Amino acid sequence: MRIITHTCPQCGTIVSANELESSRVMKCPGLSCESVLRFDDLSDEEQEFFVNHREQYRL
Ligand SMILES: [Zn+2]
Repeated sequence: MRIITHTCPQCGTIVSANELESSRVMKCPGLSCESVLRFDDLSDEEQEFFVNHREQYRL
C-alpha cells in the first residue's frame, strides 16, 4: 500500500493522509508547533489517490 503523508513545513512532523482526511484541517501535532495542516496541502495527485483508495486506508 502506498503511504501518503504530509510533512509540516514548520517543524517537520509527519502526518498521515488518514489523519488529515478525517479532520480536513488540523493543528500540527508537533510539540509547540502552531502550524495548521490541511488535507488540501497534499498535491492534487495525492488527494485523488487517497480518495480513490480510501478503503485500503481504513484498515
Ligand atoms: Zn508542525
